[in-house]
Amino acid sequence: MPQHISALPPGSMIGILGGGQLGRMLSLAASKLGMRTHIYCPDAVSPAFEVTPHKTVAAYDDLAALAAFAEAVDVITYEFENVPAATAEFLAARKPLRPGANALAISQDRLAEKSFLASKNISVAPYRAVTSLVELEAAIEALGLPAVLKTTRLGYDGKGQRVLRDAADAAAAFAELEPKPLVLEAFVPFEQEISVVVARNAQGEVRAYDAAENVHRHHILHTSTVPANIPPGVEKHAAMLAKVIVVALDYVGVLGVEFFVVPGERPTLLVNEIAPRVHNSGHWTEAVCLTDQFEQHIRAVLGWPLGDPARMADVVMENLVGDAVLRVPAALDGNTQAHLYGKTEIRAGRKMGHINTVVRR
Ligand code: AMP
Repeated sequence: MPQHISALPPGSMIGILGGGQLGRMLSLAASKLGMRTHIYCPDAVSPAFEVTPHKTVAAYDDLAALAAFAEAVDVITYEFENVPAATAEFLAARKPLRPGANALAISQDRLAEKSFLASKNISVAPYRAVTSLVELEAAIEALGLPAVLKTTRLGYDGKGQRVLRDAADAAAAFAELEPKPLVLEAFVPFEQEISVVVARNAQGEVRAYDAAENVHRHHILHTSTVPANIPPGVEKHAAMLAKVIVVALDYVGVLGVEFFVVPGERPTLLVNEIAPRVHNSGHWTEAVCLTDQFEQHIRAVLGWPLGDPARMADVVMENLVGDAVLRVPAALDGNTQAHLYGKTEIRAGRKMGHINTVVRR
């Protein structure tokens, strides 16, 4: 355990790879603690650029730009899991990269992620690696139908996956999904989807937030409700598994773990995926926790003591996707907190902001 790591002082410069809303919210949280942030993002029009004057607009494989970025910051973190491995290694050789490159390598490849979880005795849906149509047919034979065929890399919000209901769908789905290789997962007859946001700081302290119950619409997170409607034993188990994962990865920062809750005499938990970053299903923490997930991540990467993740009220987070953002300000009242991401162009399926509705007791 890296007990010797010292805390970075106020005024330090935190480098953040990625300029989306998560980077923006991390930057705001860092400012509150007296830190400065430098955002690195290839897209010149990025929500995070609006909240800090320090930025680099360059590709993730631009070594000169990466070297200058590393030179300008004290510690580096990221807001998305698809940071290229070569970029992570290049930066990690120059400044502390938190979370580390191994968390990225594991979470950006569904097969690596599943075998890592299985090696820790954490259950995942039965799966088979698929590199050819012949392997897909054998996997269907082994797992049965329906099943879900997914890319191992670069999938998000339901992109890069197809539900197979009939063996006749296999060839077309295999041809369509890119990049290869793929993975076939047994269809999980889940009753609920929950997630746990957990943090570990540079000194090895670990804290988990309460589980959120998540509902998706068109494959995009729609609401996170806390508390989740699950038995206390299942909630405890989910938190324990999330903690096992951050310890096993020697992780520093906030991590999101998504679970399927499968009904039974005693409900079982299967991990769907892990995300090495602050997580959309943790936005509710802004409204009802003394330390929200963004501040928690910043504290963790700075080597500061973690904040208390205790929840002070019940809460529902709703994503404002596309036109839904136009409900602000009319839909707001005294129990709601709105957070808009400053995106000027509304597009269908684009996350524009979120609303936390606090349920007062
Ligand atoms: P993912 O991109 O893996 O998070 O999947 C997006 C959504 O698809 C999940 O939140 C589930 O609602 C659904 N899904 C993914 N994998 C499976 C599975 N093996 N069985 C049933 N539903 C799934």
